[in-house]
Amino acid sequence: MPAEPSIFSKIVAGEIPADIVRDTERLIAFRDIAPQAPVHILVVPKSEAYRDVVELAAGDPSLLAEMVAMGHDIAREHCDGQFRLVFNTGEQAGQTVFHVHAHVMGGGLAEGSLASG
Ligand code: 5GP
Repeated sequence: MPAEPSIFSKIVAGEIPADIVRDTERLIAFRDIAPQAPVHILVVPKSEAYRDVVELAAGDPSLLAEMVAMGHDIAREHCDGQFRLVFNTGEQAGQTVFHVHAHVMGGGLAEGSLASG
């Protein structure tokens, strides 16, 4: 565990404000501060025990399945149930927050409004 809580743990603790769209026992979802798509919501485990999706899949596959289900639920509400689910994994792949999270992106992506995940 890192000594400092991650930025997402601070959101979970209510120390940093966020536009929260879902809040369950093990997950929280909120709008990305720098959206890359018309709908861009992050689904985040409340625990920061896993740095990335590879660690999460090995350590708690049911929590990963919960994240996928929440992504689908969010997409049903915000973009007709159709979405991209992106897990940046590693610095060179664009991961900047090492507290596993899924990017749920949707809304007109087929027209090319998304530059990159
Ligand atoms: P990564 O680059 O690690 O895959 O994704 C981190 C995401 O977290 C980025 O899309 C970034 O915009 C978002 N982000 C970073 N800090 C904050 C914050 O304080 N609040 C919110 N809502 N999003 C954040």
